[in-house]
Amino acid sequence: QNEESEDAEGEEKAQPRVTHNIVFVTSEASPYSKTGGLGDVCGSLPIALAARGHRVMVVSPRYQRGTSEDSIYSGTVELDQRSKIYCFGGVHEVGFFHEYRKGVDWVFVDHPSYRRPGNPYGDNYGAFGDNQYRFTLLCHTACEAPLVLPLGGFTYGEKCLFLVNDWHASLVPVLLAAKYRAHGVYKDSRCILVIHNIAHQGVEPLITYGNLGLPPEWRGALEWVFPNWARAHALDTGETVNFLKGAIVTADRILTVSKGYSWEITTSEGGYGLHELLSSRKSVLYGITNGIDVAEWDPSSDEHIACHYSADDFSGKVQCKISLQKELGLPVRPDCPLIGFIGRLDYQKGIDQIRLAIPELMEDDVQFIMLGSGNPDYEDWMRATESTYRDKFRGWVGFNIPVSHIITAGCDILLMPSAFEPCGLNQLYAMRYGTIPVVHETGGLRDTVQTFNPYAGGGKGDGTGWTFSPLTKASMLGALRCAMVTYREHKSSWVGLMRRGMTRDSTWDSAAAKYEQVFEWAFIDPPYVS
Ligand code: ADP
Repeated sequence: QNEESEDAEGEEKAQPRVTHNIVFVTSEASPYSKTGGLGDVCGSLPIALAARGHRVMVVSPRYQRGTSEDSIYSGTVELDQRSKIYCFGGVHEVGFFHEYRKGVDWVFVDHPSYRRPGNPYGDNYGAFGDNQYRFTLLCHTACEAPLVLPLGGFTYGEKCLFLVNDWHASLVPVLLAAKYRAHGVYKDSRCILVIHNIAHQGVEPLITYGNLGLPPEWRGALEWVFPNWARAHALDTGETVNFLKGAIVTADRILTVSKGYSWEITTSEGGYGLHELLSSRKSVLYGITNGIDVAEWDPSSDEHIACHYSADDFSGKVQCKISLQKELGLPVRPDCPLIGFIGRLDYQKGIDQIRLAIPELMEDDVQFIMLGSGNPDYEDWMRATESTYRDKFRGWVGFNIPVSHIITAGCDILLMPSAFEPCGLNQLYAMRYGTIPVVHETGGLRDTVQTFNPYAGGGKGDGTGWTFSPLTKASMLGALRCAMVTYREHKSSWVGLMRRGMTRDSTWDSAAAKYEQVFEWAFIDPPYVS
């Protein structure tokens, strides 16, 4: 763990000393688009930074799926500005939509390649084949937006701080250095890369480099060679372009969404091939734990849940549990521990461990509800498990935000056996709703959930949940059993766990203050290429 990342976590200021023109570049921003935590962060952090006095713009694609979800853009207006983007062997014209909401300029890039059914990255048949093109276009357009869009009458101008998120936005710092600063533009700007998940890097064959609209001499910044063992066959040279690598090399500062993850990505297990490069950039690598939108996730006012409650009066929580059991046709048993899982059905989320553990867990007096979508094998398994354990298990296949609130409120325990977790938001939502997290000790889960210790505080106990390691069926079941015994037999300890979780500071304002510290550091040194 590097020292500066300690500072990033430790230091908090009431108000920023300097305010910036901040440009977020992201493939998703809630409520307009969301498939996971990236959408949550880019929907909330900009608002928190704007509230602290910064001028903030978010640039994201305007996805149009041809469904009722498109109405989410009804507050946006089309701007009288179109830009021509040179890449992929031609000129591509993009339009802009804009909405000023909660102090933030939300800018949506309009282009035919964003108008198709599915989620931002793919549909039922898999990932879109032209994602490199779609996000290259986003990056080029995001570099133009501060220069050309007169938002509220004035452009953001050249002195910007770009916050680029994950591989989809990773071409931005490369473009700033290679295309703009080389011609005297954006000399006073800085760029911070925020890594939400290093498992996705935007890797394509090296031959595609010529499409990206970058000068040939910058190829080395993006070039990345797969190790031998990862190559498909003997003729595969392993040579690729890697968007995330390009940003790791050219960004002025690098951030991850928790402190623990900023260390994990420098290890061979956690770096997905980029650990050595990241280690070489340790002096500019920090970690700041995500906050949550405490207005959207508030059990005392949540519009989706059956009954409101708070840390001072939990009585509504049991009503939420009863309502959930009724809704799903489970036996209505307020005293039976109810475990929940919410998340993408992906290897990362530890579904294999749940699968292994279910037969044994179902022998216990327990109920289990899962909400998720993703890998069809896991979806089929959830459906099959529901028919095997009709009185104990429900598997809700789909992506449904209201249901995620209802489950978070109605369950007693939230299980997160993630193989790796850059930050994880569901454990933060769970704690805020008095639902006790049981998590694999990794990344942001390790940073945010403190294991229950009944002896601490003169026997009063402390901690906010249970963590387990290693990631095995036995250690996961062990932690779940500890939680269930405490739930059934030690009510006062359970109430203490709930109260500590519900009153924990997870606000974005605290996290935003830590981001400002990194902004300050980014402006100490000259930009990557001046
Ligand atoms: P990741 O970004 O890896 O998917 P996070 O825990 O950081 O994981 O964030 C996941 C976000 O997506 C949370 O807001 C979570 O509630 C939401 N989410 C995941 N799956 C679903 C689902 N099936 N329905 C509704 N919300 C979901």
